[in-house]
Amino acid sequence: MNFIFDLLFPIECLGCGKQGKWLCAECLKKLEVNSRQHCLNCKIENNFGELCHECKKNFYLDGVLAAGNYEDKLIAQLIKQYKYYFSKKIADILGDFLLFFLRNLNSQMILLPAKKENAPEFIGGQDNYYIMPVPLHKRRLRWRGFNQAEEIAKILAKKLNIPLILNQLSRQKYSKPQAKTDSQKRKTNISGCFGCQGDSLDGKNIILIDDVVTSGSTLNECAKVLKEKGAREVWGICVARGG
Ligand SMILES: [Zn+2]
Ligand SMILES: [Zn+2]
Repeated sequence: MNFIFDLLFPIECLGCGKQGKWLCAECLKKLEVNSRQHCLNCKIENNFGELCHECKKNFYLDGVLAAGNYEDKLIAQLIKQYKYYFSKKIADILGDFLLFFLRNLNSQMILLPAKKENAPEFIGGQDNYYIMPVPLHKRRLRWRGFNQAEEIAKILAKKLNIPLILNQLSRQKYSKPQAKTDSQKRKTNISGCFGCQGDSLDGKNIILIDDVVTSGSTLNECAKVLKEKGAREVWGICVARGG
């Protein structure tokens, strides 16, 4: 199927148009990695996207790391094309980009041990961490045929050797796609959307994977049900911020 598809629509690099790959080696190097993160709430810059002490009081999430920015046209294009075609090859590129980003953070910490403060433990060591994709509602999943976050989560879990948990977190309420709703609407729209089934997550740390983070309210709602189920820390890792 993919083969025929590729014949009809030859793949071109989204950066330079060269045929054969969604992103050629040269353009891959042009993807910009975020060197700084910030608190989701007050936007104060930090190293690991952790929510600062005060802001954390209103959040279930511990922090969110975004590898790149949606303003980077190449990243935006990759994410759009990925959603449109659900090409595993694009998932691989996005997975590699996340991996590159995390390794970069890790090596920064080795060079600058002072940076270690507030660092989530999965950077460097991976004890008791589990990866989960942000789920789609069944109806949306049927319509689209895939969950774009899940494929990226699978790639990352495999490469980082962190166990993957699927099918515990679910989206119970159908909510309209959020692109056009403002941040306040978004919050009420998403409230009570998620559920967590199955075994207790007592003491486990969860890394939630999504393609894009905007307000973070989706991740925070997921964190809420995960913590109710016993999770200790919940972090988000996303391909891009904004969108
Ligand atoms: Zn290129
Ligand atoms: Zn803050």
